[in-house]
Amino acid sequence: MFLDAHTHIFSPRMQQNRNDLLLQDEGFRMLYQNEKAKLVSAEEVIAMLDNRGIDRAVVFGFPWQDVELCKQGNDYVLEGITKFPDRLIGFITLPWSGSEEVLKECERGIAAGAKGVGELAFYHQPLNHDILLQGESLVKIVEQKKIPLLLHINEPVGHSYPGKIGIDFQALQDFIASHSTLTIILAHWGGRFFFFELMPEIKKITNNVFYDTAASPLLYHRQVFEVALKIVGEERILFGSDFPLLTPRKYFKEMAMTIASDDILKKIKGENARRLLGL
Ligand SMILES: [Zn+2]
Repeated sequence: MFLDAHTHIFSPRMQQNRNDLLLQDEGFRMLYQNEKAKLVSAEEVIAMLDNRGIDRAVVFGFPWQDVELCKQGNDYVLEGITKFPDRLIGFITLPWSGSEEVLKECERGIAAGAKGVGELAFYHQPLNHDILLQGESLVKIVEQKKIPLLLHINEPVGHSYPGKIGIDFQALQDFIASHSTLTIILAHWGGRFFFFELMPEIKKITNNVFYDTAASPLLYHRQVFEVALKIVGEERILFGSDFPLLTPRKYFKEMAMTIASDDILKKIKGENARRLLGL
């Protein structure tokens, strides 16, 4: 099975209200004030999948700071998985908070068929111990439900782009270590966190940590596939396109150039995600 593990969708209503939403949410403004940053519907993800010969996609909205907006985005995702049950897998987004409202929305989304929580992000503030602690009760629910938590993690160096924040990698390590039964997907190669799996103390805590490839061609030379495979192994890397930011085309090209084994290609292009999501 081919599966794109990282795509964003927005309801027609949100697309129409784009300008209002830019005023309402700082993170959204950072990423989407540029008109070239596209917003797409569930149908457009399906068309992309058909185009590229991909069976299924994980879809999610935007991690709004306002839980009401998250609810609207989640409703659209839940609608999408009802409409396309064989094609779309839904994750829900939530503000990073342990408020009663957020926990309730988390429970609601999972009960309605969401298979994960994410992509959660901290676009407007550096990620550190204090911030991570604020989501603790939410993380507990995700851990208990045995579904993955997808976190946006960017790299600490290189070119700057909207939404790129400072990440305290020690705080991330401690977060991973203190949730040994939580499945965590670190987006964007985890901002190269995988590199530190060369250290035995990190290798020991990353059994349940997966890395997705979202935005890889915009950030790294294609050799990153070879390097990551060498360090992480073939079971914990997930192809995710970050569509509509990019289509799968470039990823597939880079993978074809760097990964010789069909078996490993199949795992990264979908089998790992299928197993992780229990499909
Ligand atoms: Zn991201």
